[in-house]
Amino acid sequence: MLTPKDYQYLYRITAGPTPLPGDCGTLCGSVCCRPGKHDELGIYLFPGEEAMFTRRENWLQWEEHDPVEHFFPASWPKPVYFVRCTRPCPREARPLACRFFPLAPHLQRDGTMLLIYETMDLPYSCPLITQNKPLQKEFVAAVNAAWQIMLRDRRIRDLVEEDSRCREEQNLPLRIVTDW
Ligand code: SF4
Ligand code: SF4
Repeated sequence: MLTPKDYQYLYRITAGPTPLPGDCGTLCGSVCCRPGKHDELGIYLFPGEEAMFTRRENWLQWEEHDPVEHFFPASWPKPVYFVRCTRPCPREARPLACRFFPLAPHLQRDGTMLLIYETMDLPYSCPLITQNKPLQKEFVAAVNAAWQIMLRDRRIRDLVEEDSRCREEQNLPLRIVTDW
């Protein structure tokens, strides 16, 4: 299981690299940071990632969700933390999910991981996904290195495994990123 020390390391290696040389939020008005039409958007933390927060951050609202009700793997502990941003974050404190987007891991049946563009249905359009903008190598390398560590945690691996099988069942085309 990932420890707070592991999360500190993951935050460190993903702190600097960004998808583009500049702020990609200028392409879309930072649409992925907005709360959504019905205030429904937010970010799930990975198990144990809550150790990276004090829960007194003035830019976050916290919710505790039941992993079963929200379709997380059976191995996930209760509660799962869901956070909503009420204002722009201090960049160095953003959760891992924000650091990885728009990339996601895909586990092949032989257990090897591919790095792909996110395939989940999003209520907004991310130009990094739709406009084929080349991603910075340092960003792709950092996301890849972080996921290699994340997958050592059985609970996180379960989630990635389930998401990967789901993509296959739905025949979703995978856009694999190899350039790093
Ligand atoms: S939606 Fe895509 S392009 Fe826009 S800020 Fe988010 S990651 Fe960057
Ligand atoms: S934590 Fe920061 S990067 Fe992530 S959604 Fe909130 S404002 Fe955007």
